[in-house]
Amino acid sequence: MILVISRSLLDTIVADCARDPHRERCGLLLGSDAHVLAVRPAANVAPDPATEFEIAPGALIEAVRAARGGDLAVIGHYHSHPNGLAQPSARDAVAAVGDGGRYWLIVTDTHASAWHFTGEGAVEGFDAVALAITGDET
Ligand SMILES: [Zn+2]
Repeated sequence: MILVISRSLLDTIVADCARDPHRERCGLLLGSDAHVLAVRPAANVAPDPATEFEIAPGALIEAVRAARGGDLAVIGHYHSHPNGLAQPSARDAVAAVGDGGRYWLIVTDTHASAWHFTGEGAVEGFDAVALAITGDET
């Protein structure tokens, strides 16, 4: 599998995550199929945001509703790992069950990696997804 994202959108995500390096930051990946065409930072409403994330339900509901109305689909989400581990955690695996096969983008201070949960992947049930970073069209 592959996930396509432009350099500028990835930079937007990295900058958002860097705004609070001690907490997991998160947001939605909007697009079509495997192409990220927009990103939307969201509040992390998890009880302990230093080690977990939960996208504010309102943000997700709003995006899904907008997609039904013809806007970009919610194809996944991103979150940061302040501990620097650039792979899904056991907690992420629990959250991924029943997520509809969305893409997971995990950001540390040095890496961005993409994942897809199958339950049988090598890392906590996730398969690694190749991240194709494109230049920005002018
Ligand atoms: Zn995580």
